[in-house]
Amino acid sequence: LIELDGVNKWYGDLHVLQNIDLTVANGEVVVVVGPSGSGKSTLCRTINRLETIQSGAIRLDGRPLPEEGRALARLRADVGMVFQSFNLFAHKTVLQNVSLAPVKVRRRTRDEADRRSLELLDRVGLASHASTYPAQLSGGQQQRVAIARALAMEPRALLFDEPTSALDPEMINEVLEVMRRLALDGMTMVVVTHEMGFARASADRVVFMADGRLVEDRTPEEFFTAPRSDRAKDFLSKIL
Ligand code: ATP
Ligand code: MG
Repeated sequence: LIELDGVNKWYGDLHVLQNIDLTVANGEVVVVVGPSGSGKSTLCRTINRLETIQSGAIRLDGRPLPEEGRALARLRADVGMVFQSFNLFAHKTVLQNVSLAPVKVRRRTRDEADRRSLELLDRVGLASHASTYPAQLSGGQQQRVAIARALAMEPRALLFDEPTSALDPEMINEVLEVMRRLALDGMTMVVVTHEMGFARASADRVVFMADGRLVEDRTPEEFFTAPRSDRAKDFLSKIL
């Protein structure tokens, strides 16, 4: 579904993505881990073209990513992104936050979009909060709204960039639980996270990045029990 082929990106002199090859098949859950500054967020952002690359290719369903216009808007609908900061519209209700984009980008009628958005809010356990405003919700609830909003676009794949790292500990699990269920339902997911429990339970593969390189790409079992590289061993010894 998603294919990165020799991707290189620089920020000035900083070679932030170095020859990255990565394939994410339909229905696969790939967890990306690695030290701060290793390029994990940049990798996510290049996949839905929030960042451009200097060489190599990124393909979705075998086609190069579109560069602009409606095709680019469609790409961002097809490959949704959930950020650390939830980025909800403060002056719109929870329901409006979820149903806005499907009307604009997917050309749904308002009724259709509202009905589907309520179903999604139900799925993340927030149907009873549909007419409240983001500020009235906890961080964990806001992040679940953000996930419902991404799902409302009927994406082919979802990218998560540290979706729980801005949350208080007691709220992390409710968000991870929603993500676990998505994974079970067969959603294609690329997840940058430090939640190793999620990686062990839900990942098909764990990708370890260091200094802009993709150092390991293994099953969680292999990665956690027998990391090959010194960088990964060092990383795991610090976080486990
Ligand atoms: P973290 O775990 O802290 O989120 P990360 O693995 O997500 O780190 P990135 O945010 O992808 O790392 O950043 C990779 C490198 O690129 C870092 O050295 C960072 O300082 C640099 N960088 C990121 N964004 C920019 C930018 N817009 N301009 C210049 N340098 C940047
Ligand atoms: Mg990051």
